[in-house]
Amino acid sequence: MVTIYVDGRPVQVPERTSAAEIRRVTHSDQSRPIAKASGGKNVIVHGEIDVSEGDRFTVGRPFTKGMQKFRVLSSKKQRKADRSVRLIFSQPLFELMRKAFEASESLSREGYAVARCGSRSDRKNRDYFVRGLHIPAKEDLFEQSSITVTPRAEFIEAVLAEAALKGDLVVEVHTHVGSREPNFSWIDIENGLENGRFLRSCGLRFAMAVVGEAGFSFCDYDGDHDSLVMPESARISVLGRNGMKDAVMHRSASSCEITSAACPGSIRVAVVGLDGIGLEICSMLARQGVRNFLLLDDGVTGMETGKRRAKAAQKMLRKISADIDAFNVSDVARSARSYLKDCDVIFYCGSDEALKAAVADVSLKYLIPCIEARTAIKAENGGPYGLVRVLLPGITGCSSCSGEAATDRDTGASSVPVNEAVASIAVQELMDMLSGADRAFDLVEYDPEAQSVERRRRDRDRACPMCGEGGVLGAGDERRARR
Ligand SMILES: [Zn+2]
Ligand SMILES: [Zn+2]
Repeated sequence: MVTIYVDGRPVQVPERTSAAEIRRVTHSDQSRPIAKASGGKNVIVHGEIDVSEGDRFTVGRPFTKGMQKFRVLSSKKQRKADRSVRLIFSQPLFELMRKAFEASESLSREGYAVARCGSRSDRKNRDYFVRGLHIPAKEDLFEQSSITVTPRAEFIEAVLAEAALKGDLVVEVHTHVGSREPNFSWIDIENGLENGRFLRSCGLRFAMAVVGEAGFSFCDYDGDHDSLVMPESARISVLGRNGMKDAVMHRSASSCEITSAACPGSIRVAVVGLDGIGLEICSMLARQGVRNFLLLDDGVTGMETGKRRAKAAQKMLRKISADIDAFNVSDVARSARSYLKDCDVIFYCGSDEALKAAVADVSLKYLIPCIEARTAIKAENGGPYGLVRVLLPGITGCSSCSGEAATDRDTGASSVPVNEAVASIAVQELMDMLSGADRAFDLVEYDPEAQSVERRRRDRDRACPMCGEGGVLGAGDERRARR
């Protein structure tokens, strides 16, 4: 037996023990997560652990959320920030959560889930990308009723340990039975503050949401001010085969109506590779009403003038309409990623492998739909054909797992009529996404000889090293190291 200190109190445990046993010997509920002090910060422990004489542990507050309303909320630890928050799910994860909540609510019990998220933020906007969703099974719940829900410590510890490993932010989501537009109760706020503090001591960021069919409330724990921060506006967006759509709006929104679907004039489109097909795509998009472009290409035009292709494309767009905002980037190797991550959709028409890898990486990390358009040479007779592939992170396969045939790689099949046909297929895919048309296919092959178009569907491989469980899907910005 060794002596360890739990919240400063000495207790005796075997050298091989577990978080559950430490809770038992200290008479703590099996809903309170435990962290071990290690090098100036706390580390979540879970399952079986080895301890040494003098080890120090902290017991956190349960992650209880509830809707008792009898006490007036007077917490000074809440503040509002001039900030807009978006919680982004891929459709499969959103459906999983919705169904779990429906099942709980049908039994008159509060729904509960924890999302692990990557993030992207600037001064006013924060996007959280849900990359893992943990829904407790019945045995993972310590308590669940029509007015309260508490997960078991072991469930929470496993989620927190994984979040710590991957540098993810933790967003706790729950429901209030029968409430279509719930607001946080004082129990939510009090426990949320404690949960936020505990997670901060473990180097983890915490946010929470209470969600209903018609609206939701959201707040972030701000460790620097030890307070919960409510955003000025927030929405839950879902990326599906029909692109990104808002699903639920924040209670604070002046109108809880879902904003009308994105239209060509409201999105920022990146076009990478501005030779042939890429240039054709720019001009078609401009004629469809797209007004905000990011143009990436480090090549020069074939003409004698040797002008930068990105610059030439920008000029061409300005001729189509004076109100087009087209930003061109020629130094793609250095700055492609930082510009691409702020786009709503990326067209990739290049042949540069390094740039293609950067596009795939940004698309997966920030859940940005990517449409690849190019020509290739048929293996049988050397004739050209066109290939358009829509990559929807978390839904379709990514460029690593969708099984690209080696013979597809040839380029140089470029000819004006084929380029035009391929560009128009690619642009149509985006227009279908924006209009909400039913999109069942992700891969379009165009054969100019036979004048045929073949459509296929590619599903995601969950074991994929890029977009699978261990990949970069939804990772967002690299997390700044914290001292
Ligand atoms: Zn609540
Ligand atoms: Zn993949």
